Amino acid sequence: MSERVIPYNILLEIISNTYELVWRIVPDPEFSVLKEGLKTMEVSLTSGIQKAEEGLPVIGHHFSFPSEFLSCFDAVPICIEGTSYLLSALLPDGCEKYYDLINNWGHPYHTCSSQKGPMGMVLDDLFEFDVIATPTAPCDNTFASYPFFAYKNIPLVITDVPFIHKEKSYIYLAEQLKSDLYKIGEVIGQKPDFDKLKIALNLENQILNYELELFELRKAVPCPVESMINPIVSGIKIFSSGRPEKLAFFKTILNLAKKRYKNKELPPGMKEEKFRSVWPYMTIFFDINLCEWLDRELGMSVLIDIFNYNFEEPIDTSSEDKMFYGMAKKAMNYPMIKESTEFFDTFIENFINVSRDFQADCAIFTSHLGCKQFGSIPQILREALRDELGIPMLIIDVDVGDKRFNSIKIIKDKIKMFTNTLL
Ligand code: SF4
Repeated sequence: MSERVIPYNILLEIISNTYELVWRIVPDPEFSVLKEGLKTMEVSLTSGIQKAEEGLPVIGHHFSFPSEFLSCFDAVPICIEGTSYLLSALLPDGCEKYYDLINNWGHPYHTCSSQKGPMGMVLDDLFEFDVIATPTAPCDNTFASYPFFAYKNIPLVITDVPFIHKEKSYIYLAEQLKSDLYKIGEVIGQKPDFDKLKIALNLENQILNYELELFELRKAVPCPVESMINPIVSGIKIFSSGRPEKLAFFKTILNLAKKRYKNKELPPGMKEEKFRSVWPYMTIFFDINLCEWLDRELGMSVLIDIFNYNFEEPIDTSSEDKMFYGMAKKAMNYPMIKESTEFFDTFIENFINVSRDFQADCAIFTSHLGCKQFGSIPQILREALRDELGIPMLIIDVDVGDKRFNSIKIIKDKIKMFTNTLL
């Protein structure tokens, strides 16, 4: 066991145990997405831990600095936000101990729990990062929280992300990304290998085709994929980026969805699709079982959430310049970054289109405590969805990674009451 990545060891152990339990106890085809997702993340985490045991450098990164960008190094990429929320999904009390540690240290309680978990773990000496990479997007939380790591003497490489989505922004960010990879290389004593980066990006291009096909299939009525796909894909995008197991995951799930679509089958355990919901922001991470409850108890499909609709394009890897330009475009159109690096009207317009395309009959917006930059949007989006499509939107104030802010019981009660108004 590597002492430098203790939370990753814990994550791997819980994932392996949960996978074994679900695999042995739950007969096929129940929980197919969960089983495939756990299997995929188990492979990625095992590889990271093996590398840490070999003594390779540990690179912490923000989720919006996609880990395939770091494949130009022989290193262990650790996603700060992914670690916090995967632990909160799999452990009964998640990262609460570490949120409290960093709060008591003096960090504001109302910042994002996705970052507070690993910040508390660093205070507790559970991670030994050689360097951490973060962009200046998507939010003030990111920009204000990451300097804590520098305070703990961890070298911080900060990529400046422009606000406006224009050609000149992509060119600027491409230069930033390239020079930041060199900076990371200097800290860990490695020269970035852009041939290895190209291999990972080409693999991501392949994966994107499957993702987009699955995205289209999820529009079908009834939706052939269980709601659980939303948190699982969020995890896989973060932990298995640029890796063959991610490709295998999307191939398997796409085949499954195609089969169900042909036979007009519902996901296992769902008797009827009574409600088709879109979640403009995140689903709940501290209790991903909510997705199963929505399918089985309420007959509500979660058709899409913020991490599951993509605006990416394949990256042209034919030259280094084109490759970095494509990476910049991808980074600025990454979920949550896209929505936060431009004015809110684009988000509203996109979400009206998504709701129309998916034939949604309602929306649920989780207004996450940390996301101050989104504080004003839910009400405007609610009015826009009502005026343009005639569909209602429920707003739930929540911390998606901390059950103590708004418990799962209250969340379920609110959704249940909301569905009564839809009938
Ligand atoms: S945008 Fe919101 S959820 Fe994402 S990192 Fe910032 S505060 Fe956390």
